[in-house]
Amino acid sequence: MVLNSFLNHIFRYGWASPTTLLGLLFASLLLLTGASARWVDGVIEVAGGWLAQTLVQTSGFAALTLGHVVLGCSAECLQRLRPHEHVHVRQAERWGLLFVPAYLLAGLWQWLRGRHAYYDNLFEQEAFAAESVESVR
Ligand SMILES: [Zn+2]
Repeated sequence: MVLNSFLNHIFRYGWASPTTLLGLLFASLLLLTGASARWVDGVIEVAGGWLAQTLVQTSGFAALTLGHVVLGCSAECLQRLRPHEHVHVRQAERWGLLFVPAYLLAGLWQWLRGRHAYYDNLFEQEAFAAESVESVR
């Protein structure tokens, strides 16, 4: 049983590792501009710093998840957004290398249908659903 759990853990991290590597690249840039990092529930959270603040102000997004790396504006905002962002971590574990293309295609598909590429994206809807369940608790 312990071996099975260990292998499952290795597989989830390994399968998501291409997306996590992309996240680590962006995390490095944020860390160079004053961000800080911490380990939360098996995920590296990187927040704060000049670059993160600039990206939040220009893009309007408060956080971004790439594999087992979550990037965000501040530790407080990552704490608030954790249920949503950790759904994206689970999605990256399920989809592995295909996560980023699948996410972008899901957004494109909604946009082509006249819907919102972000809010109507199936990956986001799953994350928003988990967020609202968490806020009820
Ligand atoms: Zn999201």
